[in-house]
Amino acid sequence: MRVTPPGSTIGILGGGQLGRMLALAAANLGYRSHIFTPEADSGAAQVAAVATVAAYDDAAALQRFAGQVDVVTFEFENVPAATVETLAPLVPVHPGAAVLAITQDRLSEKDFLKSAGAGTAPYAPVSSPADIAAAVAHAGPRGVLKTRRFGYDGKGQRMASGEAETASAFQELGAVDCILEGFVEFACEVSVIVARGRDGAMAAYVPVENRHAHHILERTIAPARLAPEVAAEADRLARTIAERLGIVGVLAAEMFALADGRLLVNELAPRVHNSGHWTIEACTTSQFEQHVRAICGLPLGSAERHSDAVMQNLIGHEVARWPELLADPLNKVHLYGKSEARPGRKMGHVTRLYPLGTLPED
Ligand code: AMP
Repeated sequence: MRVTPPGSTIGILGGGQLGRMLALAAANLGYRSHIFTPEADSGAAQVAAVATVAAYDDAAALQRFAGQVDVVTFEFENVPAATVETLAPLVPVHPGAAVLAITQDRLSEKDFLKSAGAGTAPYAPVSSPADIAAAVAHAGPRGVLKTRRFGYDGKGQRMASGEAETASAFQELGAVDCILEGFVEFACEVSVIVARGRDGAMAAYVPVENRHAHHILERTIAPARLAPEVAAEADRLARTIAERLGIVGVLAAEMFALADGRLLVNELAPRVHNSGHWTIEACTTSQFEQHVRAICGLPLGSAERHSDAVMQNLIGHEVARWPELLADPLNKVHLYGKSEARPGRKMGHVTRLYPLGTLPED
């Protein structure tokens, strides 16, 4: 297997906090990072060796970037397909175009999940008003209409019950290609982060519970409080999905856990994920280091956790709490270097460790 050795340069598409933490992990293993992002003074560029500020469809800038890096990866996967088409002939890109094509489109993602044997919410495509009656009949009385592409943190989705609400939600979302999903009455939301190396080896972190507020992840509790057989099934599902995708790198599988113990997969992210930030402090190998190892062809590290953990996001003005949070010596505070604390913007996070088996009740 070809190895991209320490000392090489990792190209990262995207300049946010995920890229920042990837670049920090890469530096710990002796790599340099080159960030490619349209954003000036991005949080990732602040900690990287080199940054290119250019649009994702700037072919000349992409070609220059490809000539300066040894491997390319993503912290933001919603880049145009043409971006990867430009880069892939010039430099190894992980995860590759096929994985991105599946996970960038909620419909192809759901179809893929079905083919992999994973349960999902009932879903149906809505590409025009003519599709709505059949989609509502399939999805059930309560639904969630989502744009097929470019959705994140609840953007590009609307709750909709029945045909009339679905029709107005479709217009509100810009009458672009959508899918209607049945609303799932879940007991809790969980995710599993699994890494798959160039050689196909895998390492998965324990399933975690995710709590959202206003569609944005607010808190991750590691481990999720699931029955052991449900936790084992979540792990099996994530590994099966990673294997079937043939992904190289880290994959996050978000799932709904139902009261009867069933798991429905909601969404895949072919990259490091907010629900894995706790691994920085609580595991032998963080998700960021694991991703670097995977894409560079190094052996994966242990995903074992030595502590339980609660990770809380600092969203918007909450970041102003940093003095108080830092004053507690047991808090591990991460700030992302973003200058403007807009509402809903992820500005940092704080992780607290607990000896195994001693997570507070709530
Ligand atoms: P997504 O962008 O698909 O990850 O959705 C964001 C959040 O919306 C999820 O984490 C859930 O809290 C909620 N959500 C999305 N789809 C559904 C669904 N089909 N049923 C119930 N809640 C959902």
